This record gives sequence, C-alpha cells and structure tokens, in this order.
Amino acid sequence: AIDRQSAAAIVFGGSRGIGAAIAQQLADDGFAVALTYLGNADKAEAVSNSIRTGGGRAIAVRADSRDPAEVRHAVEAASRELGPLDVVVVNAGALRIAPLRTFPREDFDLLVDINIRGVFLAIQASMQVLRDGGRIITIGSNGAVRAGSPEGGVYAMTKAAVASLVQSLALELAPRGITVNNVQPGPIETDMTAGMIAGLVNRIPLRRIGKPCEIAALVSYLASSDAGYMTGANLTIDGGMVL
Ligand code: NDP
Repeated sequence: AIDRQSAAAIVFGGSRGIGAAIAQQLADDGFAVALTYLGNADKAEAVSNSIRTGGGRAIAVRADSRDPAEVRHAVEAASRELGPLDVVVVNAGALRIAPLRTFPREDFDLLVDINIRGVFLAIQASMQVLRDGGRIITIGSNGAVRAGSPEGGVYAMTKAAVASLVQSLALELAPRGITVNNVQPGPIETDMTAGMIAGLVNRIPLRRIGKPCEIAALVSYLASSDAGYMTGANLTIDGGMVL
C-alpha cells in the first residue's frame, strides 16, 4: 500500500489542462509532485508554486517527451529531489486533426513522436526507479474506443496504441505489484480543445463537456492503495459519449 504522506509522483505534461489538474490533485492527496513541461515554464512554475503555497512539495522540470535524455533527466531530478517514485502519470500529448487524404506527414510524425514514442520513453525511464507496488497511469482518449470524427483518425490511432501498451505492460510489471492503467477522457475543456468541442455537447448523453478535475479524480483513485486490484484497464470517462 502506498503511504501517500511520504510518496512521490511524476506527471509528464503537468503545466496546463488535465496534467495541471492531476498534479494539483496528487499534491492534495499528499504526494510530492514533479511535473514536466515543454514550452510553458511560467505555467509549470505557477502549478508547482501553488502546490508549495498549499504546503506541498513540488518541482517543475523542462523535458521534451520526445527526447530520451531530457526525459531521463526529469526522472533523475524527480527521484533525487523527492525520493523514489510511487506514481508515474504520462499525460503529455498533442492533437492534430485533418482528413487522412490531406493529413500532413509532419503532423503524423509529431503525433507519433509525442503520443506514442513519448509515452514509451517516459515509462521506460520511470520504471527503473518506480517502487514495487507503484502505479503507472497513462492518459489516452475515448477516440481509441470509437471514431469520434472523420478527422481524428491519426490521433485516435496513437491513443489506441497506448490502450494496447498498458495491457502488455500490466503483465510485465505485475510481478512487482505495479499496476498500469489507461484513462480515456472524452471532450475536456482545455487549451488543446479550445473552440473545438462546444458543438459536441449534443453527442454527449450527460449533455456537457468534462472538466480537468474530473479526470484528475479518477487518476487520484488509480494512484491510491484502494485501486491495488485494478491493472491493465482502459477506463473511459466521457459523459457516455462512446456508448
Ligand atoms: P493541453 O494542450 O492543454 O496540455 C498539454 C500538456 O502537455 C501541457 O502541460 C504541455 O506542456 C505538455 N506537453 C505537450 N507536448 C509535450 C512534450 N513534447 N513534452 C513535454 N510536455 C509536453 O492538453 P490537455 O490537458 O487537453 O490534454 C492532456 C492529455 O489528455 C493529452 O494526452 C491529450 O491527448 C489527452 N486528452 C485530452 C482530451 C481533451 O478533450 N482535452 C480528450 C482526450 C484525451 P507545455 O504547457 O509546456 O506546452
């Protein structure tokens, strides 16, 4: 069981949106939190300052998820400053949409690099220092379950890759008591989706867009010792959109 009062978590992509909400929630749960970011140092510092102001421990580390050396450096900094890791949340992601016929190859490469290769790099670097009994939580998408739009195919493909990976990784890490689960949000109000998702409300049975804190609440549960029997699961949280 994880003793949250002396436990440490790393959130890849914790400066904005869902990742920032997760970092704040895990800090509220008692975890010391390291969060990574790409370009928004000010926002990353604001999240870690807010955690420290609330009496928690937090550091922000710049690490491009696509760069193995930067990812390794972030994991080393986290475990050096906060202690051995108990929870790894891989949230950093990117979205590009276009019909396949015209989908730019550089956008394809970007999505694969961040949403697939970046997830692999973050997990591979972290699992060396993750404590037995720990948690790996990825942020996928409900797009992995069912096509949401004719233009979201490449993004959905990358998130389906993550949904697949957690199942094998759960098997690999089960002997160490480490659980591996993938959270699959539907439309959530963040910078990534600004101006894009209001029109989806009519396709959501609960008739509203989700909030980052609602995704963070599920991550909080998965990070807790109460969730110790759940592993290899793909958990869709989307107001019923893919039903
Ligand atoms: P945002 O665009 O609002 O935030 C993205 C976060 O990831 C930022 O902290 C950003 O850092 C970081 N990031 C992006 N690229 C990199 C990189 N190469 N290296 C390191 N950090 C990076 O996204 P959301 O909060 O909306 O999404 C978070 C996750 O949830 C993503 O994986 C997304 O695919 C997934 N998701 C989102 C949904 C939504 O409706 N919002 C729905 C389903 C899934 P910085 O601030 O420095 O740029």
